[in-house]
Amino acid sequence: MKYGYRIAKSNKTKKIALIAHDNRKQELIAWVKKHKTLLQPHELVGTGTTAKLLEKHTSLSVEGYKSGPLGGDQQVGAAIAEEEIDMLIFFWDPLEAQPHDPDVKALLRIAALYDIPVAPNKATADFILSSRLFNEVFERKIVTKERS
Ligand code: PGA
Repeated sequence: MKYGYRIAKSNKTKKIALIAHDNRKQELIAWVKKHKTLLQPHELVGTGTTAKLLEKHTSLSVEGYKSGPLGGDQQVGAAIAEEEIDMLIFFWDPLEAQPHDPDVKALLRIAALYDIPVAPNKATADFILSSRLFNEVFERKIVTKERS
């Protein structure tokens, strides 16, 4: 099978998906609070509970999908496949299995396929935020399937 590529361009203002598993929600809230000024100009979305908690604790506006275990991760994945989301900050739990682990795996696969930056932890999220590309137009290389 042959694959081709095309370039997709993000806007300067990004749509950022924020997700944290339960054991890591406090860590994500603290990170968003710390970087509120940098994040404010961007459009923020997240899975249900994460989005609610972020709105409550940071007063930023975060549009919520369904809760992760109820299909929220799949909704975020679908939005990435529609090329609506530019980056994913996803503090998933490396120490505890989740009931929706297949959805988590699917989300990470789609994020890799659509060439969006993904942060599984604070260190990577800090690198993304401090990149000169964060507030610039960003080019992503997207795989397209071709008939062979
Ligand atoms: P939640 O979902 O934000 O609704 O808790 C996150 C997840 O478990 O993927």
